[in-house]
Amino acid sequence: MLRGKTAVVTGSTSGIGLGIANSLAAEGTNIMLNGFGEYESTKAEIAALGVKVGYHGADMSKPAEVADLIATTERVFGACDIVVNNAGIQHVANIEDFPIEKWDAVIAINLSSAFHATRAALPGMKKRNWGRFVNIASAHGLVASAQKSAYVAAKHGIIGFTKVTSLETAHTGITANAICPGWVLTPLVQKQIEARAQNEGKTVEAAKKELLLEKQPSGEFVTPEQLGAMAVFLCSDAAAQIKGASFVMDGGWTAQ
Ligand code: NAD
Repeated sequence: MLRGKTAVVTGSTSGIGLGIANSLAAEGTNIMLNGFGEYESTKAEIAALGVKVGYHGADMSKPAEVADLIATTERVFGACDIVVNNAGIQHVANIEDFPIEKWDAVIAINLSSAFHATRAALPGMKKRNWGRFVNIASAHGLVASAQKSAYVAAKHGIIGFTKVTSLETAHTGITANAICPGWVLTPLVQKQIEARAQNEGKTVEAAKKELLLEKQPSGEFVTPEQLGAMAVFLCSDAAAQIKGASFVMDGGWTAQ
């Protein structure tokens, strides 16, 4: 049922977004990639799955560029059926040392961009009476960690925003749900592991093990492929009555 649909996956040049884009493409969904960095090889790999693929370089901190990402997708592919709000950044510091511009950037990219993309995509979805929003929150959308004030605020915010989106579309064929991953070994987390190794004078391998064990009882990373499978399910007909939910995939992080 996803064959021929079109998905925008924000921040899909790496990590979780890339995993979700690949999983949706494997189901026959056309993909609009977005994010910074290299994308030509990803474009070629996705095209090889037999779907249409495009790239839009919108900076997700800029509302007009987010709106253009959705408008361009509708123009190029004829529709924007699925929006995966995934782009995100992290900054780690105590509140009193947190740079104001970092706070603003985390809130803009991790939270406000989802509002702008949803706002732009809703009219077309309502017209076709079908749509899927898959918002990538985090275990930090449900529980907190010190030194991550902006990130935790944005992720709690996106879970609330997901609920509102689902209520405003409750009587339509549109759904909005959130996924809350635990640790996934992507560039976003690799940076935190390296900072930890440096600050604590440890090897990167030791810092990685400690980071996992501190929060994630399974002691293993969640993978982008596992998250991709969850996103595919949330886009399927089987998930048509799942509205405003948050799914944890966190190796037991929030079970504690
Ligand atoms: P990543 O750094 O691998 O990928 C982030 C993507 O977002 C990249 O494609 C990057 O280019 C893009 N991006 C960053 N700023 C952007 C901007 N201003 N405009 C457009 N694109 C931008 O990170 P990831 O770990 O794959 O994170 C993806 C999402 O998953 C984020 O929302 C993150 O908060 C969330 N998440 C990650 C983890 C984890 O452990 N890695 C856990 C829970 C939630």
